[in-house]
Amino acid sequence: MKTKKIIIAGPCSVSSEEELYKTAKEIHKYIDVLRCGVWKARTNPNSFNGAGDIAIDWLYNISKEFNLPVATEVGIPQHVEKALKKNIRIFWIGARTTVNPFYVNEICNSLKGENVEIWIKNPIYPDIKLWIGAIERFRKAGLKNLKAIHRGFFPYYNSKYRNNPQWKLVEKFRKIIPKIDVICDPSHISGNTELLNSVSKKAIKMGMNGLMIETHYSPKNALSDANQQVSPQQLKELINNIY
Ligand code: PEP
Ligand code: MN
Repeated sequence: MKTKKIIIAGPCSVSSEEELYKTAKEIHKYIDVLRCGVWKARTNPNSFNGAGDIAIDWLYNISKEFNLPVATEVGIPQHVEKALKKNIRIFWIGARTTVNPFYVNEICNSLKGENVEIWIKNPIYPDIKLWIGAIERFRKAGLKNLKAIHRGFFPYYNSKYRNNPQWKLVEKFRKIIPKIDVICDPSHISGNTELLNSVSKKAIKMGMNGLMIETHYSPKNALSDANQQVSPQQLKELINNIY
């Protein structure tokens, strides 16, 4: 029997509540959790940094409107504090945060005693110990509801991927900590929409527990990661095709 896969989808980031609403309205029936970046850790400071604090209110409203759990990225304790105030209960740790044990500790401390779910993305470079170490820090802080996300690794050489998947590393990871669900993020692995289907299928075939797919009602107008986001229609097709 096939186990049900967890489907997480939503925009990389949004610039208005209306934009988020339009996406959520079209995809809420097909997904388990809506993702949306609020504070974006951009490589270049002149890029769109996310809508910031105000967008937490949008996530709160959308969650209520569609009765759907929502998740956002937190990078510093102030993010956690602001999101908790609006009852956001699922957080992911970005690849550029997982690399730094100081940041991870700070976030762990700010979450102690909270009933929350944390998704830990792999660090930018393929250091399995650093990835597991970050997960261990959350466990030690008493946070038990954890998932890992494979979003690929920085390609040092020419690659068709934005971030190279490392399936063998994921297999090893799952042997070391078998009890944790591992989600695949084909969007940040692919960097475009052409590779999404094959990466998603591969992840499902090797028994990963779900997918996180960046989805926007109008991808070409997205202010971050426009090239890799799918439309709601493309998301539906992708979900129907993964098994
Ligand atoms: C994201 O999920 O939008 C994101 C920035 O992820 P990552 O940390 O994997 O780059
Ligand atoms: Mn993104």
